[in-house]
Amino acid sequence: MLVFEVKSEFPFFSLPNHPVYLDSAATTQKPRVLIDAYSRLLCQGVANVHRSAYRLANQWTDAFEQARQTVADFLGANASSMVWTRGTTESINLVARCFVEPMLKPGDRIAVSLLEHHANLVPWQQVCQRTGAELVFLPLNVEHQLDVSKLDEFFSTPVRFVAVTAMSNALGIVNDIPAIVAAAHRHQAKVLVDAAQYVAHQPIHVRAWDCDFLAFSAHKLYGPTGLGVLYGKPQLLASMLPWLTGGEMVTSVQQFSAEFQQAPLKFEAGTPAFIEAVAFAEVLRWLGTLDRQAFHAQEQKLLQMLDKGLDDIRHVHRLIKVGERAAISSFVVEAWHASDVASLLNERNIALRAGQLCAMPLLARLQQPALLRVSLGLYSDENDINALLNTLNDLSASTKSTAQVNDNPISLM
Ligand code: PMP
Repeated sequence: MLVFEVKSEFPFFSLPNHPVYLDSAATTQKPRVLIDAYSRLLCQGVANVHRSAYRLANQWTDAFEQARQTVADFLGANASSMVWTRGTTESINLVARCFVEPMLKPGDRIAVSLLEHHANLVPWQQVCQRTGAELVFLPLNVEHQLDVSKLDEFFSTPVRFVAVTAMSNALGIVNDIPAIVAAAHRHQAKVLVDAAQYVAHQPIHVRAWDCDFLAFSAHKLYGPTGLGVLYGKPQLLASMLPWLTGGEMVTSVQQFSAEFQQAPLKFEAGTPAFIEAVAFAEVLRWLGTLDRQAFHAQEQKLLQMLDKGLDDIRHVHRLIKVGERAAISSFVVEAWHASDVASLLNERNIALRAGQLCAMPLLARLQQPALLRVSLGLYSDENDINALLNTLNDLSASTKSTAQVNDNPISLM
């Protein structure tokens, strides 16, 4: 499928008066393949997985395990190392609870970065509070990028575990994950990669990256909500005790004790989101038919157009000017609060994210109370960007000076 044709695969964009959607980093619109798969799967009847031996139940169990294989192929891993979760947040919490917390003693160090989404920060704060471990922050350079050249020095004081994002949800910065993993491993630290944003923009190969864990959510990759993935190296998953316990994660249960399944099933207590998983596998197969290099090139072209357009507007200031970025441009408008700008954009039917972007410590470093974030998806095009830039131009024209305050609201309608 050609880049310009893909938008028609998303029924949302055929709705009359649909907004210009520039918030794909929060969640993506859903392609026809997902909607059709969902409705077809529901119509053909459901049966819970890994439980019963009748035909429909076996078909669902097979389809569910096939979906696990499809996700494993997508990440370059074995199916046995893929755990279904409810999303990135749950995947990270699982690793924090089941792998990291049991190995920590007071004074041990856990490293994250200031680029993390709260989902990859708060669980580690909590683990540190429970164990007496210390939370430390990977070095960033003046452009807020992870400074790979300083990692060996950083790791010379031992760190037990590193949890780092592959792509910042607030700024779009792409981290050099293979270099971070290699440096951490040279110093015996294991690494979890938060791929919630990265997964929709560039291919991932967990074996090439050599990361120990990786987490992402289906809903940011054109899939359903309520479904996520945790990849873990098989020997690490095997060494972990489960966090949630209950039905289906056991091989036998006695009155006072139980034996658990092997990974990954031991981490999937209760009924998994099996309909979503099977429908998501169809999305991944569909994505596999697209020329991802062409889409990546298109995304970079749009990002350049967006950056240049923003730079040309008086009173608009982009946060990141150099370095590798994907699909996200964040900015502020002089003398305007981000949420006021977002409200005005909403009046023009333009949807983007404004606020602290689940990255409050990063915003403190940037000395910004709030940002506006444009984020692109497969379906984003030049019309979307022009609509935003034209509206911001109008806003800028109506902005008098840095001295202007927001007690003089201007309607763009
Ligand atoms: N990490 C990053 C980088 C994210 O962007 C997000 C979602 N905004 C998350 C983690 C959390 O994902 P979820 O809410 O799907 O669990």
